[in-house]
Amino acid sequence: MTKDPVCGMAIDAAHAECKVLDMGEEVFFCSERCKRKFAETPQKCIKSYQEGRSQAHKVVVVGAGQVGATICFALMMSGLASTIILLDIDAHLAEGQAMDLNHGLPFVRPARIFAGDYSDCKNADIVIVAAGTAQKAGETRLDLVRKNTDIFKDIIPKIAVHEPQLLLIVSNPVDILTYVALKVSSYPMNRVIGSGTILDTARFRFLLSRHCRVDPRNVHAYIIGEHGDSEVPVWSLVSIAGLSLEQFTTGWDEGDAAQTRDEISRQVKRAAYEIIDHKGYTNFAIALAVERMVSSILRDENSVLTVSSLLEHYHDVTDVCLSVPTIVNRNGIYRQIGLQLDASEIERLRFSAQALQRVIAQLGI
Ligand code: NAD
Repeated sequence: MTKDPVCGMAIDAAHAECKVLDMGEEVFFCSERCKRKFAETPQKCIKSYQEGRSQAHKVVVVGAGQVGATICFALMMSGLASTIILLDIDAHLAEGQAMDLNHGLPFVRPARIFAGDYSDCKNADIVIVAAGTAQKAGETRLDLVRKNTDIFKDIIPKIAVHEPQLLLIVSNPVDILTYVALKVSSYPMNRVIGSGTILDTARFRFLLSRHCRVDPRNVHAYIIGEHGDSEVPVWSLVSIAGLSLEQFTTGWDEGDAAQTRDEISRQVKRAAYEIIDHKGYTNFAIALAVERMVSSILRDENSVLTVSSLLEHYHDVTDVCLSVPTIVNRNGIYRQIGLQLDASEIERLRFSAQALQRVIAQLGI
């Protein structure tokens, strides 16, 4: 099948009656009318056809395990992508996930979903990488680094050779692997994005919303730095309905405020460990977080998200991928927001960067 470049209609090339030879290529039409229109303004027809095509978004998900498959499910529910391709070293698993997802298609907006290979990364808007070994109970994210770095050194070149528009890294330790993907792919920094602390920020906002009894969407608060043990809750900039946390909770008799903060920070940091302890993996919230990133990219939303990207001279932090509030749009990383942090937050951000740089130095990247 091919498409009429004027009206976009699908054409069976074998039986098409209307066709022309344009710059050595056969172009097929549904009718004489479209053929005439094309003859009048061929460039305009092809441009509008291509613009129409650009609405058809293709997303490839590498890693069809718990996280990758749930990301596909969230993307399918959202209707953001018209083509979703799953890819895994375990092709049998990827095929099974694709079959299961396909059987849900009668209930959502149309999409093509199938298990593919690396050649499917060609023309992809986003390739999401959720492949690797998952964090086991009691294992820190940094414990995973060597195993998953080796996997990335293998798969990133296989993806990058097809030049998809953006790489979105989810595998842990996500900040280090975002850095590895950036170096191995040789992509410019705006095209390699880690999910970073988007999930930690969501957990932070949820816990604050429960504490303050307000919709989490009305809580503006950020976790920055590493997606992991050295993450930094930015308490100084928590804002609800234009009020600082102190102002919002003025007059509340809820015990020691410092203790409450410590407890919320601890719960955010421990969340992944606790969930893994209960069910062996985390999948739902991270999938929604990735779907939110994909939405901001494909719909050019300019959303502010705490994603991981290469920092240069950010409060003196340089040459490491970490999360800060960042405007994300069609081009990927658009702008990292320079936060007015207090002295202890800056110190903790620098500590987070140094911890990761020590690990990166051992990887020989
Ligand atoms: P999983 O074990 O269920 O799935 C991982 C998949 O990767 C498996 O299906 C495996 O076959 C595949 N894989 C391994 N090596 C591969 C290779 N070379 N090429 C292609 N596929 C390969 O694990 P999961 O629970 O889905 O977690 C996936 C990753 O996501 C882990 O690194 C985990 O730590 C990470 N994660 C990140 C966040 C976050 O906030 N960034 C949250 C949750 C999980």
